[in-house]
Amino acid sequence: MTDHYAVIGNPIAQSKSPLIHAAFARQLGHDLSYDALLATPETFETVVRQFIADGGCGMNVTAPFKLDALALSGRLSERAQAAQAVNTLSFTPEGIVGDNTDGVGLVNDIQDRIGLRLAGCRVLLVGAGGAARGVLLPLLQAGPADLLIVNRSPQKARALADNWATRYPVRAGGFELAGKQHFDVVINATSTGLSDAPLNLGDGLYAPGALAYEMSYGRQTPFMQEAHRQGVARITDGLGMLVGQAAESFRLWRGVLPDVLPVLQQLRQG
Ligand code: NDP
Repeated sequence: MTDHYAVIGNPIAQSKSPLIHAAFARQLGHDLSYDALLATPETFETVVRQFIADGGCGMNVTAPFKLDALALSGRLSERAQAAQAVNTLSFTPEGIVGDNTDGVGLVNDIQDRIGLRLAGCRVLLVGAGGAARGVLLPLLQAGPADLLIVNRSPQKARALADNWATRYPVRAGGFELAGKQHFDVVINATSTGLSDAPLNLGDGLYAPGALAYEMSYGRQTPFMQEAHRQGVARITDGLGMLVGQAAESFRLWRGVLPDVLPVLQQLRQG
């Protein structure tokens, strides 16, 4: 019997999730369908409930509905609770379970594909919106020596760090803090990659051998161009994170983790 999944968002036509999950299903010989569903804030809940009534097993949730999905979940994983955002819904006999796989997608991309162990690293996380919130706990759990969050609106970065500062080495503030030390990993979790707005973090940010990680994907962003200008050797966009979060959703639903690399290569080849 075919199991049914979908991604819900607005807009949704550009989503790569149907392609990714179809590739996972082929790779593992699973019988499933995966659709893209458009909703509005007014229709979000109805569309989800109709999908469940039609026998749907699970759903990915993308912008702008990650908070609506949080509110709809009867039960939350620890990482969804920490992120206060849900990107994966599982429809179980006990009800709707919300999870957030973005952080695992990022951490696995950095450690497994790029080959940089986060334990002991100095990490700079730029941004304090939904994406930063989603990845913060998994990043801290990977054991960095120090994680600094900087944001255009520093109070949002401080609010994020305050949640974890008693348990993990995390600090926060405005962009001016970033220039005061070197980092092994700099992650751009702002939306500047979508708008081409410049991101002025200053020079001398990167330690030798450092990684510049842009969460948005599909093109050279100002953050990536600036990293090139500063001679950073390892620069990547967030496509590996996208495939990684999808793989973790697939694992939650189907109990087996797909191989990310061939699917990532397929996407890069267009
Ligand atoms: P949000 O709108 O929630 O947050 C936007 C963030 O960007 C805020 O920190 C905001 O700062 C900052 N920002 C916006 N404009 C500027 C600017 N001109 N200069 C400096 N900072 C700015 O967006 P998300 O967190 O949801 O998404 C962020 C990025 O992450 C997007 O590019 C998205 O595509 C990507 N993403 C990638 C994923 C993947 O799988 N690869 C998954 C999820 C997201 P302030 O608080 O001051 O407004």
